[in-house]
Amino acid sequence: MDSQLSIVGCVDYTYSNVRAAVKTCFEHLGGLERFVKKDQRVLIKPNLLSAKDPSRAITTHPTVVRAVTEWVQKLGAVPILGDSPGGVDRGIRRVWENTKLSEVAGQTGAKLVAFESAGVYGKTTPEGKTYYIAKPVIDADVIISLAKLKTHTLTLMTCAVKNMFGSIPGFRKGEYHKEAPKPKDFAQVVVDIFSLTIPHLTLVDAVVCMEGDGPSSGDPKYAGLLLASTDAVALDMVAAKIMGFKEGEIDTTLIAQEKGLGPKSFEQIETRGENLDQLLLPKFVLPSNRVMKMIPDFLLKLITPFVWVRPNILDGNCTNCNICVENCPTKSIHEGEKRPNFDYTNCINCMCCHELCPEKAVYLEKSRIAKKIG
Ligand code: SF4
Ligand code: SF4
Repeated sequence: MDSQLSIVGCVDYTYSNVRAAVKTCFEHLGGLERFVKKDQRVLIKPNLLSAKDPSRAITTHPTVVRAVTEWVQKLGAVPILGDSPGGVDRGIRRVWENTKLSEVAGQTGAKLVAFESAGVYGKTTPEGKTYYIAKPVIDADVIISLAKLKTHTLTLMTCAVKNMFGSIPGFRKGEYHKEAPKPKDFAQVVVDIFSLTIPHLTLVDAVVCMEGDGPSSGDPKYAGLLLASTDAVALDMVAAKIMGFKEGEIDTTLIAQEKGLGPKSFEQIETRGENLDQLLLPKFVLPSNRVMKMIPDFLLKLITPFVWVRPNILDGNCTNCNICVENCPTKSIHEGEKRPNFDYTNCINCMCCHELCPEKAVYLEKSRIAKKIG
């Protein structure tokens, strides 16, 4: 059967506009009541990457979270709001405050849950790999994932499938980066975790997205859309098209397709609402290291001494907070008097430092030849 996907215009984050667009998204899929029943525990999982204001477009907008929460409550179910931000735990309450999730909890009465202190279950894939997943994800009767559409310097794009990586509490995320240093291996980990936590429904906040060197250091990009589906892989395929990636370019999508977790082609996706081909979509700036990902592994090894892209620090932006030091899975960043210093010997280019720096102080430095390539 084809995957059904809803695309709805949403001009801004005004509450009434978001509420109406969310309602239409659900209606295109047969109504939220198809997925949510009275008294069920419904985990609503936004992307709460870091403790930043919603205007930075790093996190799922609180108005989207509020609208979905209220629809869940309308059906007599019990919403629980939770996600694990990137990196080691520096205070989930600060993340809730700054991302305005606390405000949503106050407006709706929904409970906030900290994955970091809720405990984990070990869950094993059919291939025998065990992952430690936050208990509230597994204990929920229904999971509604609220993804944010952004570019990503490691996985090129983060949307529906990658959002479930936040089911892993705190420091373990860094461990998984270390165990899977190559982008393709890491994409496999992301898909494994997704396969153990498949949401019943995913809604993508693509009203204001992120372009450039996301998921935290890029720039906000207006697209004015909400997308929804029970099929997260289909959503990623459409989202990648919206951003301007080529078909087959996103590793997580390819791996998920190989595992039989989503449609193999656009012909198997039935879209309802806006016609994607008729939308005047903005051109997204894609991650600056994208070209490196197109080079085959064997060639990359040979040319690495001459062609490289690696993280470095913009002195003027750095506040010496040491978040990057704490979160580097290979301990390649060391504390310094004015700013941390990199030792690239063991760096696996996981881009955690780039992703988690709250000040946009970590940038991608390119060798002279890499700059010429693009
Ligand atoms: S580079 Fe960013 S994360 Fe690292 S110390 Fe500076 S401000 Fe903090
Ligand atoms: S220095 Fe940055 S890119 Fe390199 S391993 Fe550490 S966190 Fe990852």
